[in-house]
Amino acid sequence: MKAITILFTTVLLCILPAGCASGEKEAQLDQFITAHVAKVKPIAREAALASWEAAVSGKPEDYDRMSELTLKIRQIYSDPEDFALLQSMKKTGRIKDPLLARQRTILYNAYLGNQMDPELLKQIVDLGVKIEENFSVFRGTIDGEKVTDSQIKEILKTFTNSVEREKAWLASKQVGPVVAADIIKLVKLRNQAAQKLGFDNYHTMSLATGEQDVKEIDRIFDDLYKLTNLPYAQLKADLDKILAANCNIAAGELMPWHYHDPFFQDTPLVYDIDLDAYYKDKDVKDLSIKFYAGIGLPVESILEKSDLYEQEGKNPHAFCTDIDKEGDVRILCNLKNNESWMETQLHELGHGVYDKYHDPQAPWLLREPAHAFTTEAMAMFFGRLSRNPAWMQQMLDLTDVQRADIEKVSERYARLKQLIFARWAMVMYDFEKQLYANPDQDLNALWWKMVEKYQFVKKPKGRNEPDWAAKIHFAIAPCYYHNYMLGELFASQLHNHIVAEVLKLKSDKDVAYVGQKQVGAYLAENVFQAGSLYHWNEMIKRATGEPLTAKYFVRQFVK
Ligand SMILES: [Zn+2]
Repeated sequence: MKAITILFTTVLLCILPAGCASGEKEAQLDQFITAHVAKVKPIAREAALASWEAAVSGKPEDYDRMSELTLKIRQIYSDPEDFALLQSMKKTGRIKDPLLARQRTILYNAYLGNQMDPELLKQIVDLGVKIEENFSVFRGTIDGEKVTDSQIKEILKTFTNSVEREKAWLASKQVGPVVAADIIKLVKLRNQAAQKLGFDNYHTMSLATGEQDVKEIDRIFDDLYKLTNLPYAQLKADLDKILAANCNIAAGELMPWHYHDPFFQDTPLVYDIDLDAYYKDKDVKDLSIKFYAGIGLPVESILEKSDLYEQEGKNPHAFCTDIDKEGDVRILCNLKNNESWMETQLHELGHGVYDKYHDPQAPWLLREPAHAFTTEAMAMFFGRLSRNPAWMQQMLDLTDVQRADIEKVSERYARLKQLIFARWAMVMYDFEKQLYANPDQDLNALWWKMVEKYQFVKKPKGRNEPDWAAKIHFAIAPCYYHNYMLGELFASQLHNHIVAEVLKLKSDKDVAYVGQKQVGAYLAENVFQAGSLYHWNEMIKRATGEPLTAKYFVRQFVK
């Protein structure tokens, strides 16, 4: 009945043919969205609750329920008829209403990612599971003895004997040959699926469904590469001197195993500082409540429903989840009173306030962060504070002497950490792009070419092994790694904008945001309430005056 009335009214009222068709299409889309949300909303809530319960209890039956509901949602988004309708709406371009058009784009992308041929999808999922299992049961060996990942890391962090270090590093790479052939097979299957949907390869498709354009991401990474080249070389030369001296060798003799992480993605702990000492008599939960209340984004209602402390069977990591997009936001942590959990607590609550302070009037489909990396950016923005000397002084009541002690090393660490990660993220992004563009090339050589170009780490002479395959992300979290870097860039861009335009300061010296309500108000209005109303780069432009750029990250950490 309703459909007929709408058609009839349209015929009567329309004078211009274009307007007529437009109104009709819009009404049709509006109906589609209403029906779609009515179907998805309750299942999405149930699935979020199931996944929450599984993480808290660790019970297999809870995990089963979670995968059952996830599959149900996936089935909705794989419906070919719905997709055909959205595709036709996209082609005609007759949806003029911006809110409707935006919801259509979001739906189109969500459906697109799920339009794989079911047989092919099954092969991809099964092979992914097989690789993940191989990763989790595999143990490298040193002199014939099995070692765990943490034993390997411990050796790389503490041993001074180069021979022992080399053995540990080699052990960390032994999983490569076990999984490499399967990963290449998986890449080809993913490419096959993407090509059936009209894309060059899976990498291009993944970026496109996340509204990212390869050229645009290339440009950002290229800027970052050029801007960090020289400073990274200097910083690394200083670091190399210390690392070489620790092992009694010349800096020119340093090999990949002399860094403190198998991939040199983490900061070697060479400048001594114990930040935990400042947190051990404090309560990180109380500190987080006090801080977020101070900036006008209270988190008590999030913490009431959250699960903050260790217990048997519970997920040992941390995450934030928006259960219903109607205010039920929760975080899972395993808090201890130390610096790293302070960072995690601030990080997860950064996601939390993004979800909590959305615009409740916005359409349900748009009550989401603009992109996975924009919510990561908010989490990083707040997480960085746990090591910020000004923040620590104000929140932990430190003396000027204590603050000066922290300052001596903290800035250097922050630079080192960010630069090392940035150069590592370039390896990941560039290699993965080329992996999908041509999985048949000499990937072992390509990997070392990237490592030498970006990280300035020397390839061991004659090495020809699939060292790239030892990085689990290529198998289980494909084409996603670059988003961690984009998150860091946006966090710095926001920081710069807030310092200059919201707090009206000339420099960010002493900026800790403590008690500054205008910071929370600015973020709520410009980032959280914008939800996914705009393309992520449009949101960033509206919030900071320019599209995403590497320049403020460089200003904050490089110069
Ligand atoms: Zn996060």
